[in-house]
Amino acid sequence: MKLILLGAPGAGKGTVAKMLTELDGSVQISTGDILRGAVQAGTELGKQAEAFMKAGDLVPDELIMGIMESRLQEPDCDKGFLLDGFPRTIPQADALKELLAKLNIELDMAVNIDVPRDVILDRLTTRRTCSNTDCQAIYNVKSNPPKQEGVCDMCGSPVVQREDETEEAISHRLETYNEKTAPLIGFYDKEGLLITSDATSSDAVINLIKEKLGL
Ligand code: AMP
Repeated sequence: MKLILLGAPGAGKGTVAKMLTELDGSVQISTGDILRGAVQAGTELGKQAEAFMKAGDLVPDELIMGIMESRLQEPDCDKGFLLDGFPRTIPQADALKELLAKLNIELDMAVNIDVPRDVILDRLTTRRTCSNTDCQAIYNVKSNPPKQEGVCDMCGSPVVQREDETEEAISHRLETYNEKTAPLIGFYDKEGLLITSDATSSDAVINLIKEKLGL
């Protein structure tokens, strides 16, 4: 399947993407995970992205399109992909449309995961993430804690609170979402690709996607 997952930070895009990869071998492509990996590895990309990310601002479109142009041409994308956290702006969506046309790739749909703000705030402040950039498993101190406190079940690395998940950075990220990313809902609606899920459970979102894809 070839999907875009839209939704505010904390809507569950990453969790849903990880679950969908198990259905048909499609790969999750999270620009946030790629950028955090680059920051930790100290690459040129990481150096350019770090300050934006810490502040909860978006990384410039050109950097993101540079990442995506090569990522979408890697062979593991042949089975399908789940775009998680990309596109994030109208210029990125325009550039993606052009890139997909050039690569002869057709999207199945864009799924808008619409979760109430109070649920999002609660989730983001209680979310914890595996610090190993090759893993980045997601936990929640209330609803899904690791078996051993602070230790990732999957790889044994420390589970931490992300630097951009302080209350201040979270509220800034949500403002940025409303201003820059929410307009993509109208964009994909016009393209005839939009479906919206207002369920808060990831299982319900997956079921809706399966139903729409006829799986
Ligand atoms: P995420 O893990 O998707 O919440 O992304 C974490 C941070 O990475 C965001 O707050 C942005 O600073 C940056 N980022 C991730 N994806 C994008 C994107 N498509 N465009 C611009 N910045 C991004």
